[in-house]
Amino acid sequence: MSRQISKQSLSYLKPETPIIYVKGVGPKRADALEDSGIKTFSDLIYRFPRRYLDRSTITPIVKLKVGTEATIVGKVFSQNFVKTRRRSFYQVLIGDESGQIKCIWFNGIKYIKDAFKTGDMVAMSGRIDFFNGPRLIHPDYDKLEAGEWDPIHTARIIPLYPSSAFLKKVGLDSRGIRRLLRPILEQFPLSFDEILPESIISKFELTEINEALRQIHFPESIEYLNRARKRFKFEELFFLQLLLAVKRQGIKATKKPFKYESPGPLLKKIYDKLSFELTDAQKRVIHEIWDEMKSPEVMNRLLQGDVGSGKTIVALLCASIAIGNGFQVAVMAPTEILAEQHYRNLKLLGEPAGIEPRLLIGGQPKKEREKILGEIESGAISLVVGTHALIQEGVEFKNLSLVIIDEQHRFGVVQRSKLIGKGLNPDVLVMTATPIPRTLSITLYGDMDVSIIDEMPAKRGKIITKIINEDRLADVYKYIGEQVKKGNQVYIVYPLIDESEKLDLQAAIQGFEYLKKNVFPDLNLSLLHGSMSNAEKDEIMRSFVNGTVNILVSTTVIEVGVDNPNVTIMLIENAERFGLTQIHQLRGRIGRGEKNSICILVERKRTEISHRRLKTILSTTNGFEISEEDLKLRGPGEFYGTKQHGFLKMKIADLISDKELLKIARREAFQILDDDPHLRRTNNKYVRNHLIKNYSEYLEFINVL
Ligand code: ADP
Ligand code: MG
Repeated sequence: MSRQISKQSLSYLKPETPIIYVKGVGPKRADALEDSGIKTFSDLIYRFPRRYLDRSTITPIVKLKVGTEATIVGKVFSQNFVKTRRRSFYQVLIGDESGQIKCIWFNGIKYIKDAFKTGDMVAMSGRIDFFNGPRLIHPDYDKLEAGEWDPIHTARIIPLYPSSAFLKKVGLDSRGIRRLLRPILEQFPLSFDEILPESIISKFELTEINEALRQIHFPESIEYLNRARKRFKFEELFFLQLLLAVKRQGIKATKKPFKYESPGPLLKKIYDKLSFELTDAQKRVIHEIWDEMKSPEVMNRLLQGDVGSGKTIVALLCASIAIGNGFQVAVMAPTEILAEQHYRNLKLLGEPAGIEPRLLIGGQPKKEREKILGEIESGAISLVVGTHALIQEGVEFKNLSLVIIDEQHRFGVVQRSKLIGKGLNPDVLVMTATPIPRTLSITLYGDMDVSIIDEMPAKRGKIITKIINEDRLADVYKYIGEQVKKGNQVYIVYPLIDESEKLDLQAAIQGFEYLKKNVFPDLNLSLLHGSMSNAEKDEIMRSFVNGTVNILVSTTVIEVGVDNPNVTIMLIENAERFGLTQIHQLRGRIGRGEKNSICILVERKRTEISHRRLKTILSTTNGFEISEEDLKLRGPGEFYGTKQHGFLKMKIADLISDKELLKIARREAFQILDDDPHLRRTNNKYVRNHLIKNYSEYLEFINVL
């Protein structure tokens, strides 16, 4: 491969041109680029800067304020390795026209010591610390070209690129990437096809693709930069929403193989026997669901409602419609113990209508299991409760028309294609108690219709929440002892955010041993954690629910809710380490009975931010408010339960600050598909190609394009 590509050939760089043909890229660089996922010219161009340097974002050294985040630009004056009695570190002295500051590295010294030469121009970013004068610890650094930044004489905006160790080795640090891209973008026109529909470009005055690509790399002004960013954010959100629209359309396009004539005779029987009046919100969502059940299009609906908002009765009333019309209903829960609980509740509530649910879980005697399977197949069983396995392995239904899924997170949602493969196409109702902020839910559940129960039944017991530090623990333990003597039960929860965290598990086990031996020697304590087998977990939960165990010490596994109305105290250890939504979910486990309850948050490591977060929990019990706050404070990547969701890995858009753009992109994407369901029109050609090329892995089960 020749590195001597003529200048003229640069203008023939097509989006799909292999990276090795780009001027300045030889075999070694091509390897490194491919390693970081950059295979074509398009991949390179779509690797946007991670941030920018410009006059407004740089602080003269003399004006730095301790405790704030800042970026400085200056020259490397000197650098040396320092060894004191306590620690050794690497120190680089940076100066601009106003003053000097030390940058310090305690770790990675062997890389840093070769990173700079005296006289280099550098940009450093980080929090200003103070110790014998202001200093920056482990700042983010970027080398600049000599003369690339001169704050007095230029108003240039410099892109800073993400890099990797491998890329740096072949000279493609942030500066190297600038050197590579600048000539291409400044001297030659790009030839990317416009992938957004023209009507949208003009309606929202979005920058055209080739101009936007130039401006996002080497912006002429902040204004142009912002417009280019807006364009790419829109592009990202638009295609994501379009994908969801396509999915939804695919589901809607299939007509039901069954039909309901009326709500049937059972609904009223159950309703008349309820010991409480449904809330207005419950009534509204039942109407929403019924409206869709009776329509010819298959239902794919999310029922969202905070912990305790009364989803179970809604589910049962909907199930009673299907059953009353002679069809079968499956209710699925994420764990066996939850399935058992649903089974008990449904049995109780369904009694007045003669609905007899059956439970199908692992570990049932073979004979019993076979009998149940036979009755499901013959239609003798109209309501069956179990785990996901219920509709997957060897279970044949006579006429399943409704599947109700109770789940905490999206991960387990049934693959409709699997059902269709079994010759079934039932309505699906997914219930979730996770109060997902709207911005996230239209991304996570954007292909579903949503019903929300936004009202709680009249209060039973009150829940008081308190934050304490460890000094108060002795008093709290005493109080717990007294409450147990009165017959109440207690949860003590340890943080174990990630099941692979051995140290956390260790801490929980040690905490349990300590409490058992030293604090509550004459009470009955049990430990529950995620590494136990399901059978063990179920056994422990059972003895807690039946009252044998007084205090259940656990990691976060109990958040997946089992009802025990007798629990009046929850103590959450190291509460500062939990997400707010997680605490909210945990707290929903208490106050399930008549009595008042208390939730005690033990804050062991107090920072201003963590304390502010925790206080949100004191001020509201509204799950949506809490989750919005959580999302703001922690970002979608960390947001509870959504970490592993590929959809949320946005390249440029931000689900929080780009909320409005997301709504517009969604509206436009759904509109386009409404007007042109198969994207066959000429003016949607590029939209269609882009979707197929870039999202085909998600389109796997959809055959509509
Ligand atoms: P979740 O939405 O968390 O699943 P549940 O369906 O378990 O909530 O309901 C919680 C409790 O509230 C149950 O004991 C249920 O019987 C009760 N409940 C449900 N709806 C009402 C209502 N409208 N008024 C009073 N209590 C209700
Ligand atoms: Mg529930």
